[in-house]
Amino acid sequence: MKEIQFVDLQAQYKSIKDDVDRVVADVIDHSLFIRGPYVEAFENKFSALLGTPHCVSCGNGTDSLYIALKALKIKPGDEVICPAHSWISTSETITQAGGRVVFCDTNLDTFTIDTNQIESLITKRTVGIVPVHLFGQAADMDPILKIARTHGLWVMEDCAQAHLAEYRGKKVGTFGNVASFSFYPGKNLGAMGDAGAVITSDQELATYMAMFARHGGLTKGEHLIEGINSRMDGLQAAVLSVKCDHITKWTKRRQAVASYYLQHITNPRIQLPALAEYSTHVWHLFVIKCEERNELQAYLKDKGIPTVINYPVALPFLPAYEYLGGSQEQFPNAYHNQSRILSIPIYPELESDQIEYIVDSLNSF
Ligand SMILES: *Cc1c(COP(=O)(O)O)cnc(C)c1O
Repeated sequence: MKEIQFVDLQAQYKSIKDDVDRVVADVIDHSLFIRGPYVEAFENKFSALLGTPHCVSCGNGTDSLYIALKALKIKPGDEVICPAHSWISTSETITQAGGRVVFCDTNLDTFTIDTNQIESLITKRTVGIVPVHLFGQAADMDPILKIARTHGLWVMEDCAQAHLAEYRGKKVGTFGNVASFSFYPGKNLGAMGDAGAVITSDQELATYMAMFARHGGLTKGEHLIEGINSRMDGLQAAVLSVKCDHITKWTKRRQAVASYYLQHITNPRIQLPALAEYSTHVWHLFVIKCEERNELQAYLKDKGIPTVINYPVALPFLPAYEYLGGSQEQFPNAYHNQSRILSIPIYPELESDQIEYIVDSLNSF
């Protein structure tokens, strides 16, 4: 059996090596490093994939959140509600854009923002909500959009882990005012370095974001506002364009692995991930829960199965957010989950003997 990785980027590269090598050589041959045809082609390809009119590429997923938040024109003291359990990019960019982070507890089973608690967090200063489609499954968008409409708030979707996931038959990223994506190498659609993008159907937001990401102008020498430098480079765009042609197939393969896991992992000590009726799951991560999580992780490590904890400390309990004074009682679900969750390997290139070995190992724990 081939060695099991947490994500096997080499196996993926091997499966598309000729195409990747060809476009990478072309970028280098023609010095298409910054902007240029590959970046434009990727933006068009990604928009078409998601069925959205505007895609602005940028340097990484964290920048994409920041760029979107700046375009939403956060003012000092504005409050933005986001889930208590996510990657720190979701919340740190709110602060960097000038806002104030307000954490909302997550749902115990789906791990996404608990929509029943959002309204109680809204104050006169609240301006927006940032749902995260965590682990590959959509947050419950209908109640979120309804709350946003009622209170005049914007919605920014963090889609870093959910490329092509669908909420009630429509792709995530197309519900809010704006949505952000990461193409970090290990994400479902991953570059060979850092890359990110924002999408929107709002022309004005799209223009502002394109300007802001490129020193405040759309053409060389134009600086209508002060911006930043956050560009997807030509090499990443070329690689991502090649991968765009495979993402649908890869997603189906992830779903096949997940459904095998769901059927065959039968150990009563292990709780399988919950499927929300309103969402497809693109399985960026397959997150199980176990009361003896650390023991299970060590057991799997001994068996040559790498696992990761996404994320071991929920955001309100990180030193970075001590100033908000969040308590366990305020975020009981995130607190409960952080000590029980464990992400097991899931990627399109997992082979059937590896999958069976992972299942057997989990069942024999
Ligand atoms: C990966 C990730 C990001 C940030 O993406 P980078 O490209 O690593 O900056 C943001 N939000 C979530 C939920 C993520 O998983």
